[in-house]
Amino acid sequence: MPRNRAGAVGVLGGTMWSTRQLRAFVVAATVAGLALAAPSAATADDDVPRAALTVDEVARTQCSAAAVRPLSDQLLAEVACLRPGVLAAIDDIPGVELGINAAPLLDAAAARALRAAADGSPLWIYSTTRTLAQQYVYHHWYRHRRCPSVVALAAPPGRSNHESGLAIDVPDYAAWKARLRGAGFRWLGRRDRVHFDYRGRGAGDLRRLSVRAFQRLWNRNHPDDRIREHGRWDAATARRLARAPADGFARGPTCR
Ligand SMILES: [Zn+2]
Repeated sequence: MPRNRAGAVGVLGGTMWSTRQLRAFVVAATVAGLALAAPSAATADDDVPRAALTVDEVARTQCSAAAVRPLSDQLLAEVACLRPGVLAAIDDIPGVELGINAAPLLDAAAARALRAAADGSPLWIYSTTRTLAQQYVYHHWYRHRRCPSVVALAAPPGRSNHESGLAIDVPDYAAWKARLRGAGFRWLGRRDRVHFDYRGRGAGDLRRLSVRAFQRLWNRNHPDDRIREHGRWDAATARRLARAPADGFARGPTCR
């Protein structure tokens, strides 16, 4: 399967970023815990009308969440700004191969555990940390029975284990179960055979942070339509996420 590190590109603050650059952004914010900012001031790009789909349009018209990847990259970078060190890279772990829409990041403790479990042989992971935008799309499909071959079960936005940053989906679960369990991952079992959650030492939970990241990005781009940045998934947040641009906000993540 293709690695995604050379694949999707995102729009952060009007700049096209590769997945590797997203990772670099997150790691830099993580290591330094600093005021690292994507260009957040208005740029020439702001003058160009955006014909992008909204998150809700992606949910209603497509059977791939690839279109929300640029917004997802912004959300992950904003999470890293909100709490430096909370996310860590997994795409440099020997043997790890990520699905095309899988973020190269996990909760830092889960990433450490995955690194300990990996032995260099191929470990394909097709789902990792999900953002609010991705979960919105998957949940819409589940609720409306769209794209059943892609999504059989999906929690509402803000509720998925994958949004916590602790979950991975491993198609070759039988081969990896013992090693992953030994490193602190719990296998979900028959309900969802590919799914593992990290439950070991230092496990965090990104879900509220992930919602807050969206609320902050929304407010940065809509000073006249501000919502509360409380980190809870509510009706006001849902309405804005539905209208959010899948290819990312004009004003991207900032650590200031
Ligand atoms: Zn899963």
